[in-house]
Formats: sequence, C-alpha cells, structure tokens
Amino acid sequence: MVQETINGSSKPSLKVLPPSYYDKFLSHEAKLRGFSPIRGLLPLESTPGLISLLAGKPNPDTFPFTSFRIESRSADASKPSTLTLEGSELHEALQYGATAGLKPLVEWMTGLQEFSHGRDRTQGDWRVTMGSGSQDVVYKGAMCILNPGDAVLVESPVYAGVLPVFNDRQCEKIEVDTDEHGIRSSSLREILEAWPVEKPKPKALYTVPYGCNPTGMTATLERRLEVLELAKEHDFIILEDDPYFYLYYGQAPRYPSYFALEAQTGEVGRVLRFDSFSKVLSAGMRIGCASGPKTLIDAIDRHTETSNLQVATLTQMIAFKLLDQWGFEGFITHTQRVSAFYRERRDMFEDAMRQHLTGLVEWTTPEAGMFVWFKLIVDPSSPSGGDSEEAIRNIAFKKGVLALPGTIFLPSGRKTAYVRASFSMVSQEQMHLALSRLKEAILEARLA
Ligand code: PMP
Repeated sequence: MVQETINGSSKPSLKVLPPSYYDKFLSHEAKLRGFSPIRGLLPLESTPGLISLLAGKPNPDTFPFTSFRIESRSADASKPSTLTLEGSELHEALQYGATAGLKPLVEWMTGLQEFSHGRDRTQGDWRVTMGSGSQDVVYKGAMCILNPGDAVLVESPVYAGVLPVFNDRQCEKIEVDTDEHGIRSSSLREILEAWPVEKPKPKALYTVPYGCNPTGMTATLERRLEVLELAKEHDFIILEDDPYFYLYYGQAPRYPSYFALEAQTGEVGRVLRFDSFSKVLSAGMRIGCASGPKTLIDAIDRHTETSNLQVATLTQMIAFKLLDQWGFEGFITHTQRVSAFYRERRDMFEDAMRQHLTGLVEWTTPEAGMFVWFKLIVDPSSPSGGDSEEAIRNIAFKKGVLALPGTIFLPSGRKTAYVRASFSMVSQEQMHLALSRLKEAILEARLA
C-alpha cells in the first residue's frame, strides 16, 4: 500500500520513548497488575521435549466438533474457496490460546501494520495485541492510561461508544472541535495553551481520523501533523481509533495514519493505534487490535489476563486462514471492494437526501465510513424552530424511521440540531421511504 512520506523525504533516525517514560502515563491499577502466574508461563509449553502439567486446558478430544468447513470468497470475490479446520489446527482453534492473540494472526497483523503504515517492526519498541473487537482494546487502553479524575481530550462530535468508557472512569472530557477537515488542531492548541498551570495536563487525546463516526470526516495531513506536534509539546498519548481506515472512498490522497506519521517525525511511542476487522471481515467475529509502544500493549495484556483472558481462538483462526490465503495485497483488494460498495451507498443516499430533504437539512459529503451527519435547518417561522430532538427521537420513530439525534455524540451531551443516519444496510427503495418519512417528521416538528 502506498504511504506518502512527508515532503517525499525518507525516514529520519528515530527517537524511541523508553519504557520508563510511561510511568507517568500508566494508571494506578495498570502499574499494580502483575503477570498472571499461569498465562505468563504458557509460552514455555512450546519448549521442545517439555511435558506440561501447567494449565487447566480441557482435552479437545472431549469436544463435540470434529471439523469446520467454511465457504469463503477470494479477495476480489471472483472465486469461491473453502477453509478447513481439522486435526491439530482444529484442536488449537478450540483451545485456550495466548493472551495477545493467536500467534500467526498477531504476526500477520504486525506485517499489515508494516505494509499499511510503513512501521518496520525493528524500528521502535512496538507490538500488537488482539482484542474482542477494537472496542475491547480501546476500553482497556483507556483504563491503562487514565485514572479517575484525569482530563482526556476528546474530539467532538465523537464515537458515542467511547463516551461511556471515559464516563465510567470518571474522567473530565475536554471537547476538541472538528470541522470538514477533521479535528481542529487550532482548537486543540488553544485548549492546551490556556491550560491552568496548577492543573495536571490531559494524558491522552481520543480521535477517529478516517471517516469519523458520526461525521464521516477525515483529518487532513496538516491537521494530523499539528496534532502530533502538540502531543510532543504537551506530552500526551494519541488514542488513534481507526476502524474506517480501510473504508476511505474520498478523492483526497491517502493520508498517513498517526501511527505512520509519528515514525516520519522522528519520535515514536506516543500513538496507540486501534484497528478493527468488524467493518471489513465481520463484526460478529469480534476481532480488533491495538498497536503501539510495548509498555502500553503489555499493560493491555495484563488487563486481558484479569478480564476475558483472550479473544476467541476459533474466530482468530478463521480470520488467519482467510487472511493468510489472501495476503496483504489481497486484503487491500478486498477492502477496496468494500469501500466501493459504501461509496455507492453513500451516493444513493445523498441523491435521496437531495430529493426529499433539500431546504430542510444541510450536510457535508462523508468521505469514509457509513454515516451522513446532517443538520436540521432552523425554521424561523416555526414556534420551536423545528426541534431536532423531538423530530428524530419521537416523531420520526412513530412514522417508522429510526435515526440518532446528534446529542449522543457530543461529549457534553448538549442539544444540537445534528442527526446521524447510517446508509450501510438499507436498499435504495428503503432510503427513499425512510427519508420521505423523515421529511414528514421534520415538517411536523416545525409545527409543534
Ligand atoms: N470505534 C469506532 C469509531 C467505531 O465506530 C466502532 C464501531 N461502530 C468501534 C470503535 C467498535 O468496533 P469493534 O466492532 O471493532 O469493537
């Protein structure tokens, strides 16, 4: 995959943040957690000649499954293919496995990070750990860094699913504005420069750089570089949650990720990156991963050892068999097909929006992902101005269409005229029906 280097220059020599640097970033319990006495010894089981009496592994001969055959597609969807799991591979798939994930899948994913982000595994002390979806590792990553009461920078609007993570942790969420060019680095700079001297600075920034959920916007290269500069200057970790990286269908050149860019700016160790297979392989497999500084990834693994032990081995094995067959190029071919699918849906949805909602809403065309984030235009002649909460939460539902009021994507939970609509699962016919119902709801709300 082509990765642009800044100004086309080659990589400068790297400054790698040392493990001791993370002392100030690790949360209290991340520091207190030790290695699991049993899981920590599991890798020794592969020592040649060793007889292991270590773990309470169930004997797979007692399991009711004798083989798995899964019909799949080639990466370009031109031919069917069969994946078979039997014998020792089946036993491995049905057994407990390593905390960080199925070894060949972790290896494949590490290779993909090298391929897609130009991060040579020998440059900087980074590694990969698998999660039960990216949500699992986003949650654990946040818990390993943040203590109750800590401030965390959060782009706004933001993925609604991350807000409970920061709320549960009783963090102070500091909203950073976004616009059609992604996170507003100037807003971030203003916040940080005005930060009270007596108050501990935020330890982390959470951002979705490609096709942000809910806005569908992508951060430009300039914005990304300024955010990285600010991270260095004000000493925080970037939580790069990027499940739409492979679903980009816009016109702009492909911007490097934060994970790629930090290696190009000479210092590595500030970016904790999250990837997800949910949008490109299957959401039900529950596979995602975190990539970043070894010290933080180790802390995530300690969390996994104390919570869910590992990601399901069976789905990891299925994913690995498929990805191994496809290779990196095949994976990219597949994701290009997936993103072309969503681009077509987006175009259809926008056509339907133009037909039904012109004059009632305004929006910016999304460049990745599966959402349109639109704003209800205030009607000055209506008594309420046309309350979007009322229109979406109550009236639209009664008329048979479900969308999300924008307020749930705002860290402060304040009222907003924005609405998020997902176009991933609806046919063209359903799009027209849904948007004509929405139109009725908006007009009715204006009369209320
Ligand atoms: N982050 C973002 C920005 C998302 O949009 C989602 C899913 N909607 C997730 C994380 C969680 O994805 P996963 O299925 O990999 O847990």
